[in-house]
Amino acid sequence: MVVLSFNLAPMTLKKIAIVGTGIAGLSCAKQLIKAGHEVTLFEKSKGVGGRMSNRKYEQWQADHGAQYFTISHPKFVNEVSQWLEHGVAQTWHGKIVNYCNGNISEINRDRNRYVGTPTMTAPAKFLANNLTIQTSQTIIGIKKVNQHWQLVSEEDGLCPGVFDFLILAIPPIQAQKIMGKESASLTAFCQQAKMLPCWTLIAYFKEALTLPFDAAFVQDSIFSWIARDNSKPGRPTTNAWVAQANPDWSLQNIELPKIDAEKTLIDTFEQLCGTKSAFNQVHLWRYAKLETPITQNFAIDSNAQLGICGDWLRASKVEDAWLSGYFLGLELSGQKPASA
Ligand SMILES: Cc1cc2nc3c(=O)[nH]c(=O)nc-3n(C[C@H](O)[C@H](O)[C@H](O)COP(=O)(O)OP(=O)(O)OC[C@H]3O[C@@H](n4cnc5c(N)ncnc54)[C@H](O)[C@@H]3O)c2cc1C
Repeated sequence: MVVLSFNLAPMTLKKIAIVGTGIAGLSCAKQLIKAGHEVTLFEKSKGVGGRMSNRKYEQWQADHGAQYFTISHPKFVNEVSQWLEHGVAQTWHGKIVNYCNGNISEINRDRNRYVGTPTMTAPAKFLANNLTIQTSQTIIGIKKVNQHWQLVSEEDGLCPGVFDFLILAIPPIQAQKIMGKESASLTAFCQQAKMLPCWTLIAYFKEALTLPFDAAFVQDSIFSWIARDNSKPGRPTTNAWVAQANPDWSLQNIELPKIDAEKTLIDTFEQLCGTKSAFNQVHLWRYAKLETPITQNFAIDSNAQLGICGDWLRASKVEDAWLSGYFLGLELSGQKPASA
C-alpha cells in the first residue's frame, strides 16, 4: 500500500473545492466549514446523497442504493443521534431473515439498523443545508493555474472560482480519471482499490406480497438482498421491493444490456415471490462496494494540494463514508482525532 503524507501543517483559512456530495463529501465539508474554510461542492447529479439514494415513480418510491446503516464509531454514533433528533433517520424494525431456497432462518439482531426518513437521501439533505453546492456539474478535468485549482465541467466548461485545495470525494476510478497526471501517489493509491458492481431491481406490485419477512439476505440465488421498501419507517404504503444481485453475478453480467439484465432479474424475483410485478426498473451501480476493505480513512498529496475521501478508503459502508470525510476534514483543519 502506498503510504501518503498525513503530516500537513494546519491550513490557514482557504478556499476548498470538494467534488462529490455523497455522505463523505458532505461530512468533510461540515468539518472544514467549522474550522473557517470556505467550501464549494460540485455534484454531477441534480441532488445530493450519492449512493444513499432513492428513486420515485408515479405510484412508488424505493431506496435503490444503500438499504440501511449501522453505527459503531463514537463520532458516527454522535452524528446519527443528531439525525435521529432532527427526524432525518429512524431505527428500522423490519423482520430481516436469511433466505435459502425457500427456507428461512432468523438472524442475530446484534445491532440496530437505521434508515434515512422519509428516504435514504434525508441525512445527506440535512448535511447539505446551508452549504454552497453546484449541482448538475460533472467534473471532467482539473488544472493548476498559479498554484490554484480550477475545475472543468462537462456541462459548462470552466467552473467559476479558484481554489487553494481540492478534495475528490468520489469512487476511485472516477477520482483517477479526474486527477490525470496531477498526483502520481494518489493515482497509484486509487488503482489499488477495486469496487464491485451491483445490478439492482426495483419491482412494484399492486398487492402486498405474502413473503413472511420484510427483508432477507439471500443465498443460493443471483440475489444477495431483497427488501420491502415500505417496511421502513416514514414510507408510503405502496408495495415496492428492492432486489440486489450478488457481486459475482453483477460482475459477470456488468456489460449485459439493461433490457436483458431486467428480464433475468424480474423473472428470478417473480419466481422467488410467486407474484407478477406490475412495473419494474433496473439500475446498475458500477461502483457499489469495495472488494477488500482498506483502513486508510483518507489520503492527501500535500505537494499537489489534493485530498481524497470516500467509503472506499475504509470498508465501503455509510458509516465509513461519513468517517472518511470527517477525518479528512479534521486533518486539514489541523485537529487530531482522539482515535480513528
Ligand atoms: C446497491 C448498494 C447498496 C448498499 N447498501 C448499503 C447498506 O445497506 N449499508 C451501508 O452502510 N452501505 C451500503 N452501501 C454503500 C453506501 O451507499 C456507501 O458506502 C456510501 O453511500 C458512499 O458514500 P460516498 O460519499 O463515499 O460516495 P458516493 O455516495 O458514491 O458519493 C459520490 C458522489 O460524487 C458524485 N460524483 C461522482 N463523480 C463525479 C464527478 N466527476 N463530478 C461531480 N460529481 C461526481 C456522485 O454523483 C455522488 O453523488 C450500498 C451501496 C450500494 C451501491
